[in-house]
Amino acid sequence: MGAPAAESVRGDRVRIPPVLMFHSISCSTAPDPHRVRVTPRRLDAHLRLLRRLGLHGVSLGELVSAQDRGQADGLVGLTFDDGYTDFLTHAVPVLERHGMTATLYVVAGRLGGHNTWDAGPRLDLVDADGVRAVAAAGYEIGSHTLSHVRLAGAAPDVLRHEVCGSRRVLEDLLQAEVRGFCYPWGSFDERAAGAVRDAGYDHACVTGDYLPGDRWSLPRAYVAPGDTALHLLAKLTRHHVRMRGAGVAAA
Ligand SMILES: [Zn+2]
Repeated sequence: MGAPAAESVRGDRVRIPPVLMFHSISCSTAPDPHRVRVTPRRLDAHLRLLRRLGLHGVSLGELVSAQDRGQADGLVGLTFDDGYTDFLTHAVPVLERHGMTATLYVVAGRLGGHNTWDAGPRLDLVDADGVRAVAAAGYEIGSHTLSHVRLAGAAPDVLRHEVCGSRRVLEDLLQAEVRGFCYPWGSFDERAAGAVRDAGYDHACVTGDYLPGDRWSLPRAYVAPGDTALHLLAKLTRHHVRMRGAGVAAA
């Protein structure tokens, strides 16, 4: 990966289009206390709205690269956290229908397991074959650590283990570079961001609705289970207003 554009180096705020954050895409009617489930039908409606607005959903890696080239106009980042198996069964068909791509952030030490970091309900995580299948289908795989730990305040050895270790596991598995990182629970601080940068990641994103960050703390907008097209439109608009309010012109 080449040097970041001048406005994208650490310490400077990044001009980035909106990035949407999803987790599980599922028709399940089981309790969803952590509000991580969006139905395929609603995802379809959201992507239809993007198209009506003349926007195109891409992986965060593609978005950042386009931004480095000054060509991110009209793009929206689509990201799915944790690596649930329903990404393959429910998200991919919808994304394909709209000709869009996305990034799946997987917990590299929990492949084939469950979201044990939540109190429940248990959701299935993609295994190694699933990770390869997602990449082979043209979607970006990013790291979400080894065990879904909070990185803010973490000891240096924990940071190294979770940040470098997960990249190594995924690169071994994919035989390809892993450029993107996502902080579990959006938990990060200067040291965590430094560890991510030093591990060789090209960029990283946080969880939730933050002010514009730098290349290793890119903001994202959470898409809630009940969000309608109007909610999504409001979130996209708020992103641009915040970018302008912070003195950063949205690309
Ligand atoms: Zn997560």
